[in-house]
Amino acid sequence: MTNGLAYLSANLPIRPAPYRLGPDGCGLVVVDEVNGFATLKGGNLAPQAPNAQVEQMIDETDRLARSFAAAGRPIAVFLDSHQPGKPEPPYPAHCERGTGEDELVPALKWLETCPQAILIRKDCINGFVGAEAGEGRGNRIVSWVNDTGLASIIVVGICTDICVMDFVLTMLSARNHGMMPPLTDIVVYEPGCATYALPIETAMALGLPATAAHPQAETHHLDLYFMASRGAILASSLV
Ligand SMILES: [Zn+2]
Repeated sequence: MTNGLAYLSANLPIRPAPYRLGPDGCGLVVVDEVNGFATLKGGNLAPQAPNAQVEQMIDETDRLARSFAAAGRPIAVFLDSHQPGKPEPPYPAHCERGTGEDELVPALKWLETCPQAILIRKDCINGFVGAEAGEGRGNRIVSWVNDTGLASIIVVGICTDICVMDFVLTMLSARNHGMMPPLTDIVVYEPGCATYALPIETAMALGLPATAAHPQAETHHLDLYFMASRGAILASSLV
């Protein structure tokens, strides 16, 4: 069997590098680090076995968020949160309100009462869309960037190739469209991102469609590549 990751690394390379936090406003965006996605056996879409990438994401997010909170820097936290019984195709039921799946993982629960943090519940993959307040009241994430004067945002969370990527790509367009004048850098902190593992053998055994196959290392890599190729900055560390 060919080593897919080695092929991707050689032919679709990514180059995460240390990112320097400047004196200008910098905010942290935490995407969907909820029980239903990141706690062992926390739901239909949660890890069913211990997963090192997910554990590292939570550790790194906690460390970063505590340093941002201590420095008085703004933090925005997305929570995937669905009305019970209302489907989000193509996914099985997940993160329904009242189940606990749509609550932050235990290590990040403190963010609920962190004065620097705003929590945004969303019922769709893309946090930018989910942040639409409706009825002409604007977009909560756009307002957050503009009101706090952010020149850069650091994005962490799960899944690299789903909710993180859709948010980051949309933010790049929104920035380039002039919706957030202070914002220059949209940074993806690689050690703080994770996705799930569903090898093709498992997907086939479960009777899932072929596109359900989801090798963790390869999908994580591919979507870092797509974000970087669209203009996101990939960070290996923050200095
Ligand atoms: Zn969802």
